[in-house]
Amino acid sequence: PPGAHVPALVIGTGYGGSVAALRLAQAGIDVHMLEMGMAWDTPGSDGKIFANTTAPDQRSYWLRTRTKQPLSNFLGFPIDKDIPRYTGILDAEEFGGIAVYQGRGVGGGSLVNGGMAVTPRRERFGAILPTVNADEMYNVYYPRANAGLGVTNVDQAWWNSVACYQYARVGRKHAERSGFSFVFVPNVYDWEYMKQEVAGTVPKSAVAGELLYGNNAGKKTLQKTYLAQAKATGRVAISALHRVTSVAPANGRYAIAVEQLDTTGTVVATKNVTADKVFFAAGSVGTSKLLTKLKATGVLPGLNNEIGKGWGDNGNVMCGRANHLWDPTGAVQASIPTAGIDNWDAGGAFAEVAPLPTGIETYASFYLSITRNPHRAQFSWNSAANRVELNWQTAWKQPSIDMAKSIFDKINAKEGTIYRTDLFGVYKIWGDHLTYHPLGGAVLGKATDNHGRLHGYSGLYVIDGALIPGNTSVNPFVTITALAERNIDRIIAADF
Ligand code: FAD
Repeated sequence: PPGAHVPALVIGTGYGGSVAALRLAQAGIDVHMLEMGMAWDTPGSDGKIFANTTAPDQRSYWLRTRTKQPLSNFLGFPIDKDIPRYTGILDAEEFGGIAVYQGRGVGGGSLVNGGMAVTPRRERFGAILPTVNADEMYNVYYPRANAGLGVTNVDQAWWNSVACYQYARVGRKHAERSGFSFVFVPNVYDWEYMKQEVAGTVPKSAVAGELLYGNNAGKKTLQKTYLAQAKATGRVAISALHRVTSVAPANGRYAIAVEQLDTTGTVVATKNVTADKVFFAAGSVGTSKLLTKLKATGVLPGLNNEIGKGWGDNGNVMCGRANHLWDPTGAVQASIPTAGIDNWDAGGAFAEVAPLPTGIETYASFYLSITRNPHRAQFSWNSAANRVELNWQTAWKQPSIDMAKSIFDKINAKEGTIYRTDLFGVYKIWGDHLTYHPLGGAVLGKATDNHGRLHGYSGLYVIDGALIPGNTSVNPFVTITALAERNIDRIIAADF
């Protein structure tokens, strides 16, 4: 209720926020979570909560009147279409040089992501989070995060036999014939459910291509894991369609300004609450935007000059390859990725063998590469335009393209194949206009202390992907979760 006071307020309900809420509640602290997206707990007119990847509708995009599909073209033809403006699940947030895809709703990115739950190789951890004790992370917090998220491995015998992973087996064959290391990656999908999907005994979800706009069955999103546990404590309240616009010091507490939205994105009410402690968990972009604005507009002038810095795209770049007719990748492709090609040490790229669930045979192999891109961008406040900007440049993807080529040029040469040029435009090979993995903007040990306490203010914390300086060498959510587990442990012990 307006004017209410809470001991702990969490902004955002993604990985960092969900970990914070659960652990605080278990420690006996009442928590209120504010989430700008919808609750995603009510079916639409088709009886389903989430739309299919192949048939986007108003539920699919955050406040857009036209879809902005990551693969914008097929056989060269643009595939985007008009949709009603709605508080949908996937935000394709456009900055000057990059579109940053993010989940919107209770569960954050877990609602829309591929569920790939990858713990980085131990020897690479020092380059990811240099100030964090790796022993603690690998002995305690990565295992805790994997358990909390419900991470498991695919049954490889089944994977080897099933039609919906034909595309991944083609990916393995081509990787191994070129001498690359092909690695299975864990996931949060319920593999027993997927086996039943294939057997035809339950409604199809991953096997029907559900992913980008939500998954109606087998994926263990945060709604089913951390947030379900958090709610079960009886100490966590969640308000959906509530967007935080300000956090200001007020008599030893913080005053939080909130806008309540309707499903067209219109502000229907503004509210104020106070809190003793505030956790910024609005995601790398959401947290960075809030802090950059609050510092620049004099609301939180004591934040240091590291705010907004150190932002990276995890080196994301996409491409497709055209296979020969004897290498079909399958008309039915499970939307849940299971594997990657690891050429990080030699070429700076880890390529996930991704599905292209179009429902027809395309003879295409599709990949999302994570690369060691060195560029870092900065958020800044544009007072004339009244918005936060990001100075990323599209040309900064070139190192990522070069690193991805360390894998795919070699595979193409070996297989006698070529790149697809029809997926991102007409005669355009590289999907270099986007990222799924925003990281940084309030970097650990720079904008905050070594546990996420913001410099300049006691009782303000960052606990999401904004802490991580731009790259994790693999898909990021397990690292975001494990770091949040580590930080909240210390914060509860020392600050409450
Ligand atoms: P988020 O999960 O982004 O949560 C932040 C939440 O805060 C959001 O719900 C947002 O709506 C809310 N919010 C923002 N601003 C405000 C505000 N002002 N007020 C209130 N609420 C606010 N990672 C992997 O590891 N494996 C994968 O397979 C994978 N696949 C992906 C596929 C796609 C299509 C996308 C988009 C991402 C994928 N990711 C994947 C990335 C992963 O989902 C993110 O790294 C992760 O969700 C980030 O966690 P977070 O806690 O930092 O923030």
